[in-house]
Amino acid sequence: MADRPRFGPAGVPSAFKALKSPVFEVPIFLHDEGLDAFEYQAVRWGPKPQMKKDIAEKLGINAKKHDVWLTVHGSYFINFCGDYETIETSKKRLIACATAANWMDAHVVVFHPGFYGKKSPQEALECCVKAMGEVVESMRTLQITKVHLGPETTGKPSQFGSLDEVLTLCERVELTEPVIDWAHIHAREGGKMKTINDFREAVNEIEKRLGINAIKNLHCHYTLVEFTGRGEKCHHTMDEVEYGPPFEFLATLIAELDLKPVIISESPILDVDAQEMRDIVLKKLEEKGKR
Ligand SMILES: [Zn+2]
Repeated sequence: MADRPRFGPAGVPSAFKALKSPVFEVPIFLHDEGLDAFEYQAVRWGPKPQMKKDIAEKLGINAKKHDVWLTVHGSYFINFCGDYETIETSKKRLIACATAANWMDAHVVVFHPGFYGKKSPQEALECCVKAMGEVVESMRTLQITKVHLGPETTGKPSQFGSLDEVLTLCERVELTEPVIDWAHIHAREGGKMKTINDFREAVNEIEKRLGINAIKNLHCHYTLVEFTGRGEKCHHTMDEVEYGPPFEFLATLIAELDLKPVIISESPILDVDAQEMRDIVLKKLEEKGKR
């Protein structure tokens, strides 16, 4: 369980890339920036892990040593609502990501469950539940028991993954926890997250359906987002306040409800804005006398 609100980037920061150091040294870099989470991006992976086991293990060891909460973003090419072939390949892709996450001793493999295509939302849901259940079975066989699957709220209305759908997956599939991408909820629902009550409602719904621990240790993605009628268009930095959803409200709720989320920055300036998010939350905690 996360012991405090934690912050970190979705992927390797550009300042780290410039150092040309091996990826397993990312946790050292983040620790020096005062960050304490990292989501490794396995987003273009195929049906086999595309990282050597010893590198993954080194990354995991460094993350522990430097107090960085490690997660993996799984392949974008997963679609549990597709045809038989697509579903079978998608399962392999997710299992490959879970295997590497297990080597790293990472907490969650985040993924987007799929596209509705010609399926009704109910049919799409049943397909996802079935495929994810089979992935969990394979993970058991492979003795991957600590890594959780993290279906994410998705950014386009054509994608399976409303808040309700993600919570239903978590209710029905073992070893699963929700990943709340606030920008995606905002974009998918046409700019829904406008007031603190919109955030409060979402948090209440998660608590009602999955229990208090689910909200205390929520795994989140955050960025300011631009969207059209078809959903998410592009991400913006924390300075571009003309875009939503307003981070201020989430920060207020974190302080008010003593939440300990892991917040992964998906801003174009990943680690820089992760620090910005951290500072906003720390300020809220100070104002409430909780620091
Ligand atoms: Zn994602």
